[in-house]
Amino acid sequence: MDNRRVVVIGSGPAGAMAAQQLIRNGVPVTVMETGEDIQHGALVRISGRNIYRRLPPMRTAAGFVVTGDPNTNIDYTYALGGLSNQWTGAVPRFCADDFTVGEKEHEKYRWPVSYSELAPYYDIAERTMQITADPVDVPNLPAGYCDYRHRVPEDWQALGRSALKRGQGFTTMPLADGPPHLLLRRGTAFNSFSMLLERLHKQKKFELITGAHVLNLEWDGAKRKVVAAVYHDSASNTRKRISASAFVVACGPLNSPKLLFNSACSDHPSGLGNSTGLLGQYLHDHPREWWAVDVDAPITSLSPPAYLTRLPHAASHPLLACSWTIGAFGTIGKIKSRFGQKTSSFGVQVFGTMIPKEQYYVRPSANQKDEFGFPALEVHIEFEPEVLDNIMGARDHLLGLLKDAGYKGAIRAIVPQLFPGTAKHYGGAARMHASPKYGVTDSCNRLYDAPNVLVVDASCFTTGAEKNPTLTVMALAARSADRLAGDLKAM
Ligand SMILES: Cc1cc2nc3c(=O)[nH]c(=O)nc-3n(C[C@H](O)[C@H](O)[C@H](O)COP(=O)(O)OP(=O)(O)OC[C@H]3O[C@@H](n4cnc5c(N)ncnc54)[C@H](O)[C@@H]3O)c2cc1C
Repeated sequence: MDNRRVVVIGSGPAGAMAAQQLIRNGVPVTVMETGEDIQHGALVRISGRNIYRRLPPMRTAAGFVVTGDPNTNIDYTYALGGLSNQWTGAVPRFCADDFTVGEKEHEKYRWPVSYSELAPYYDIAERTMQITADPVDVPNLPAGYCDYRHRVPEDWQALGRSALKRGQGFTTMPLADGPPHLLLRRGTAFNSFSMLLERLHKQKKFELITGAHVLNLEWDGAKRKVVAAVYHDSASNTRKRISASAFVVACGPLNSPKLLFNSACSDHPSGLGNSTGLLGQYLHDHPREWWAVDVDAPITSLSPPAYLTRLPHAASHPLLACSWTIGAFGTIGKIKSRFGQKTSSFGVQVFGTMIPKEQYYVRPSANQKDEFGFPALEVHIEFEPEVLDNIMGARDHLLGLLKDAGYKGAIRAIVPQLFPGTAKHYGGAARMHASPKYGVTDSCNRLYDAPNVLVVDASCFTTGAEKNPTLTVMALAARSADRLAGDLKAM
């Protein structure tokens, strides 16, 4: 066996991206995935519009205990491809300020990676995703690579101009929606198993073990590194062990810190990566709400949706922001958009941010166990009043922009989902930082305590910008996989 073999844990977008990049660098990879199949759904896409979509359901995940906001949502389903079985596919890049501006608040909010370092990896990720977008930079949203170009319709440009006056961008939401016509037995065009891992299957250096729930990482005190992953093999109902030169943890933003806590040993008694007590802290998420807007004059039905970017960092709180995704209602609205027809109502989804803080965390439960006998994971998070005020302020802000653009808008229905977990954008519990004082991993996602272990999902996020996280997760995973491959070549 090649002694450079890397074990990647998790087959969601983060793990799949890391695996692809390691294989491209000639490094043998074994992906361990607790799920056994993708979750099936259905997608009918005609002329660039998703006319019918059936998504597989999620279930309340076992092995978690909620202690913050009692409404905290922890629904999840373990499967090949992770949450990309369910996702929408919105893939905006973070902008340069998103990585640096938090420093105004405190140095702990400065990412150890810059936009320009990440840009080539955004490109690598985007080239796997068959994205529809308008490839032109707008304020707070750099353009990325896209396969399919789409410009926001002409009559919406007045809104774009009023947004620009306030330093905001308005453009097509970059969407990993696939080619114009699709008929699929899954609910999403991009699924990280179908679009990445399945294509690696032909490679001799690639191995996928499904039904393999990784329980803990095994630290060798003499070698000062992790030497194996211990997993529950569902086929034989036994515990097994797999050794490797390095381990890429990509179990998602709650399960990755859980795995590190489970890996406590005599040298790391409170969890691997937790020598400074930071593991689990700074958990964050996006509050979100959805509303319907009626306008007094017809305007072209929007599909794919448009994206209104955050207020400029300099003119607003650097870490409290909102983004607006504006789109057509239902199938009829999408069909109307195909023929350039107008509508008098549309839907808006808003994502807000929270400032990551120590008091929001995950940690091992003191008294509850999971099905494997490890402590359940306590999830403690809530949205403070300033976070809720910020997202509710987004309503009037959009109505003001519409007014400037010549439309009188009224919000008809609000579907508030202002409790943690509904966006499925958790992050931060194994954060990256240039200093171990503020970070669990370094700038290449390596645990300060165990550099042959990388954490590459959104648990590594230093802050949570208002943008959907997955593209940035994938870019970080590709970058750190490249660095790991370089390290292994030098061995
Ligand atoms: C309805 C919905 C819509 C969304 N829309 C968007 C969107 O438009 N844009 C966006 O950016 N994001 C979106 N998201 C979020 C997006 O799906 C996630 O950010 C993304 O899937 C995270 O990828 P990941 O690889 O880090 O984690 P996951 O996708 O959670 O993958 C983790 C993988 O690890 C496996 N695993 C977990 N624990 C273990 C273990 N112990 N051993 C072995 N395997 C394990 C899981 O089964 C899973 O396959 C959406 C999510 C949902 C639910």
